Amino acid sequence: MNNINKIIFIDAKERFNITEILPRGRDRFFADKSPVTEEGCKPVLYTCGNCGYGIVFNRDNLLAGERNRKTKLSQEDAIRFDEIAKKNKIENLRFLDFYCPHCEIAVRIYYETQFGGHHGDSFFNIKYVIEKKG
Ligand SMILES: [Zn+2]
Repeated sequence: MNNINKIIFIDAKERFNITEILPRGRDRFFADKSPVTEEGCKPVLYTCGNCGYGIVFNRDNLLAGERNRKTKLSQEDAIRFDEIAKKNKIENLRFLDFYCPHCEIAVRIYYETQFGGHHGDSFFNIKYVIEKKG
């Protein structure tokens, strides 16, 4: 058996119900997109790939990752995840990381942030997930 320290790198769509978090309010953020509807305000749910536990993210969590670019993982896990990010050329994306509160696997999500719109609001696009089992 060689599933100790198994790390997977996947598209965020495999774990999230929504990957684009639109700005608040009803204004258009991009000229070529429709005005934001209630759809843009749904909770963003991550489902743990190991145990199925659901974790809800909101805009403030993602903004915190934008401002505070520090890992919450152990140094060992953070180094492994940084290596994978570099290998996949996503090391310049913002990230948030945590341990699943239920099964304790290490998880990091990578996302893009854009600022703009009439109110200087923000737009997030969750791109990738890294999970480490064991
Ligand atoms: Zn879990």
